[in-house]
Amino acid sequence: PGATVRDLGEALGVPPTRIIQILMGLGEMKTVTQTLSTEEIELVAEELGRKVEVGTLEEPAPEEVAPEDSPEDLVEKPPVITVMGHVDHGKTSLLDRIRRTNVVSGEAGGITQHIGAYQVEQDGRRITFIDTPGHEAFTEMRARGARVTDIVVLVVAADDGVMPQTEEAIEHARAAGVPIVVAINKIDVPNANPDRVMGELAERGLTPEQWGGETVTVPVSAKTGEGIDDLLENILVVAELEELRANPKAPASGYVIESRLDPGRGPVATLLLNRGTLHRGDVVLAGTAYGRVRAMFDHNGQRIKEAGPGTPVEILGLSGVPEAGTRFEVAENERTARSRAQQAEERLRRQELAQSGPRRTTLEELLGEGGAQELNLVVKADVAGSVEALKEALAKLSTDEVRVNVVRSGVGAVTDSDIMLASASGGIVIGFNVRPTNTAKQVAEREGVEIRTYDVIYKVIEEIEAAMKGMLAPET
Ligand code: GDP
Repeated sequence: PGATVRDLGEALGVPPTRIIQILMGLGEMKTVTQTLSTEEIELVAEELGRKVEVGTLEEPAPEEVAPEDSPEDLVEKPPVITVMGHVDHGKTSLLDRIRRTNVVSGEAGGITQHIGAYQVEQDGRRITFIDTPGHEAFTEMRARGARVTDIVVLVVAADDGVMPQTEEAIEHARAAGVPIVVAINKIDVPNANPDRVMGELAERGLTPEQWGGETVTVPVSAKTGEGIDDLLENILVVAELEELRANPKAPASGYVIESRLDPGRGPVATLLLNRGTLHRGDVVLAGTAYGRVRAMFDHNGQRIKEAGPGTPVEILGLSGVPEAGTRFEVAENERTARSRAQQAEERLRRQELAQSGPRRTTLEELLGEGGAQELNLVVKADVAGSVEALKEALAKLSTDEVRVNVVRSGVGAVTDSDIMLASASGGIVIGFNVRPTNTAKQVAEREGVEIRTYDVIYKVIEEIEAAMKGMLAPET
């Protein structure tokens, strides 16, 4: 027996009459005690701008502290930092410098691995850095409802000042309600002018503490290392004000921050724990992927057996490659995890089908004379970073005449289901550093779906752009 109108109203915190109203708007007549189908529940939730999980109403984003956590179980959680700022202001250099000088080293022989995040130690306390700088990753994660970042470090070059992307970063941090610590970088260069930067920050509502405001600003040089300790100490001060705590005894949950398909090891995902402790052997569920944690590594590539809140870990053993920003949690057993992953898969398929349109074949045909106003693409790539980069770049190609629509994107080979989706949506498939499986090739032939493969991003962009202008060169 499913949920009734009253159940749904209670679960969503709206009066049942509102639910009935919405259903009427959708052409459905229901009374308070009548049962709703999964589809009806989803539609109503969508109308209300809410998300529900079929069967069980979706839990809210995992808070570090859940109602059932008793205060004595809560311990300090390392703050999670994202570095943002204008291009060339030194985000990457700063992350590298901090990693080199302060990274928590594991046992002897550990070599820092790029797993998407790393941890440093300052005054005996830990800080976690997400090592993809910039606000694209931050925004992507947020778009999926992931709240990963506790503090934003805004890098502003002392010789350049506040620039357009600095302003964007400020907007993103504010929209997310995340506190900002400003690193005024490149103070070693002769024409550095930190005072001017502080003035520009004050103009944007980030008045420095030194000037009686509330914004922590720290002069640093990623090049010489000057001010780095000071920056880390200040991050800890801000973290303390935020009272970041979590219960390490709870079942683990958090977010996927990176994932890829490793030819030898299968799906590899970096998880960042918000709450609880993850153990080797736990069953993890992340969207449509699930599996028992076969092995777990820290940022030094060292095998570990467990990890607590605020810690990034790389895990092996998932059935697929979950997108960055996907929430994960520990499931009771593999069977529950599998069935919930299947439910998620079904939901995804329904959503994708709902987005699909009329049927066409090749890129040229699609965009030929009198061609489509929409270009639907299925994008597959070898790593999550490339998927994101492609999606971003492709979205920017949209013009008044043709809208570029990425109907599905993901990591891994081009599969049958990618072809079917492209076919259903009248689009084509783009493979970046990945190839179609043998059966996918057959399905593509049968369905008349074009698969275009590439190994450089600008080529993808160039060709799609050219096709959109109606002058595509034949594929080589
Ligand atoms: P991002 O685009 O923000 O990631 O910036 P990068 O870290 O790539 O830095 C851009 C350029 O500025 C590079 O040539 C760096 O070597 C240089 N740079 C970064 N930090 C400093 C610094 O503190 N001092 C000086 N002199 N150069 C820096």
